[in-house]
Amino acid sequence: MKAAYLRVLLFAGAALAAGASGCAHKAPVEPPKPPLVPAVFQPLQEALQKSYLELFQLAPTLEFSNTQIQNMRNYLEQARKYCVGQYKKKSDQYSADLKRLEGNLKQVSATASDTQRHDLHCQIQNTRALQSQTEVLADHAIPVAYENKEAKLDLIQQWPGDLKQIKQQIADGSYLKRQWGDVKDIGFREIASGQKDDIKTGEDAIKQMKQAGLMPKELDNKAITDYVEGVAQKVAKHSDLQIPLHVTVLNSKEINAFALPGGFLFVERGLLDAADDESELAGVIGHEIGHVVARHGHKLMQKATIESVVFQAAQVAAVLLTGGAAGIGTYYALQYGFYGLGLALNLNLLGVSREYELQADQLGIQYAWNTGYDPSGFIRFFDKMATQEGYVNGASWFRDHPPFYQRMLDAEREIMFLPKKENLVVQSSAFEQMKKELKPVTAKAEAEEKGRPSLLAPEQGCPAPQKIEYKPGEPIETICSLPGTVVTTKVASR
Ligand SMILES: [Zn+2]
Repeated sequence: MKAAYLRVLLFAGAALAAGASGCAHKAPVEPPKPPLVPAVFQPLQEALQKSYLELFQLAPTLEFSNTQIQNMRNYLEQARKYCVGQYKKKSDQYSADLKRLEGNLKQVSATASDTQRHDLHCQIQNTRALQSQTEVLADHAIPVAYENKEAKLDLIQQWPGDLKQIKQQIADGSYLKRQWGDVKDIGFREIASGQKDDIKTGEDAIKQMKQAGLMPKELDNKAITDYVEGVAQKVAKHSDLQIPLHVTVLNSKEINAFALPGGFLFVERGLLDAADDESELAGVIGHEIGHVVARHGHKLMQKATIESVVFQAAQVAAVLLTGGAAGIGTYYALQYGFYGLGLALNLNLLGVSREYELQADQLGIQYAWNTGYDPSGFIRFFDKMATQEGYVNGASWFRDHPPFYQRMLDAEREIMFLPKKENLVVQSSAFEQMKKELKPVTAKAEAEEKGRPSLLAPEQGCPAPQKIEYKPGEPIETICSLPGTVVTTKVASR
C-alpha cells in the first residue's frame, strides 16, 4: 500500500522534476531547416493550424505526397526537440542564476542592509518564477502542442483512407454491428450491469474527499448551477444511466469535469469559462456520464479501497499545495491550471484508461446526439483544449489519453454512423445568459486568488514576477522562434 501511494507522489513530482537540472541536454543547437520547398511547406503548416473539424472536410482535397508528409513528420519531431531543448537550456540557466543568487545571499546575509536583502529576495523570487515557467513549457505545453500537430498530420495522411472505409461500412450496413451501435435503444440497453452498486462507492469517496479537504468550494450562484443541472439532467435522461445523476458545480479554475462512480458529476468553473456553446458543454457531460454508465471506475478500482485512493489524493494534493517534495515547479504548474483536483484524483476512481476514454467518448457523443445536441461539440471542445488553449491541464480526460488522432477519428466516425437528425442544437440563449452570470463570479474568484498569500512570492513588495507569455491560440513555433510560422486561423478568444 505504501508503495502504491509513493508511486503517485513520485509521479506528481517526476512530471516536473524530470530534466529539471543537472543533466546535459542533447538538444539540437540549430533550429531544423524546413524540409520542403516553401510552396509545399507553407500550405502544410497552414493546414496544421486548422481545427480537426475543418481538417476532416479539407483532408480529402489536399494533395501532399506520403514523402512530403513523412518529411514534415521528421521536421516536427526535430522542431519539438529543438523547442523543448531551448526551454530546458533556459531552465538550466535560471537554475544556475538561482544558485548564484542564493550564494550571494548567504555571503552578505550577516552584513546586508534591509534594502539589499529585500532586493536579493526579489531577484531570487523572480528567477524561481522564470525557472518554473520554462520547465512547465518544456515538460508540458510544448510536447502537447506538437503531439496535437502530429495528430493533424496523421489526419491529413490517413483520413482519406479511413473515410473510404467508413463510407463502405455505412453502405454495407456493417456499421450497425459495431459495439453499442444500437443507438435507437439508448436507455433500454445495458452497457454494464449493476450501476446502482456503485452509488455507495461514490458516496464514500465524496465523504472522504470532503474530510480530507480535497473538494473545492461549490459555486454559489443559483442561476449558474440551475443551468448546468438542467443541461446535465437532460443529457442523463437521454443516456443509458439507470440511477439518479447528482450534479455539483465547483468554483475552481480547472478546465475539467469528472464523475465519480454511482452518478456523481462534478463540473468545474473553468470548464464553463472555456466552453463556447452548449453543445460543447453537453459533449463533455455526456463523456462523463459515459464513464458512469459503463462502470469504468468500478472496473478499474477492483482491488483498491476508497480509503487508499482518497489518502493518495490527499498526499498528492499536499505536495501540490505546499510545493513540497515536488518543488516549486509543480506549484507553478498549478498556477497555470495544469494540475489541480484533476491530477490529485486517482485515475482508477475516475475510470480513466486509454481504452475507457475511447468508450466514454463514443457513449458521450451518442448521448449528446440523442439529447438533440450537435455531437461534434465534443470535438470542438477537445480541439480548443489541445490547440487554442495551448496548454493541456490536469483535466482527467487528457491524463492517460489515447493518441489524439485515434481519438478524433473514432469520434468523427461515431458521429458519421449516427442517424441524421434535423435541427441539432449548438447554442442556446440560456447558455449565453449563464456566461453573463459567470463573468463576475470568475472575476471575483481570480481577484481572491491574487490576494491570497502565495508560496511563490514570500517576499512582499517586489515587482511582479516576469511572465513568459504564450498566448492561447498562438502557434507553438512563435515561442521557439522557429521559421515558417504563419498565423492564419486566429480563433476568437473567450
Ligand atoms: Zn474520461
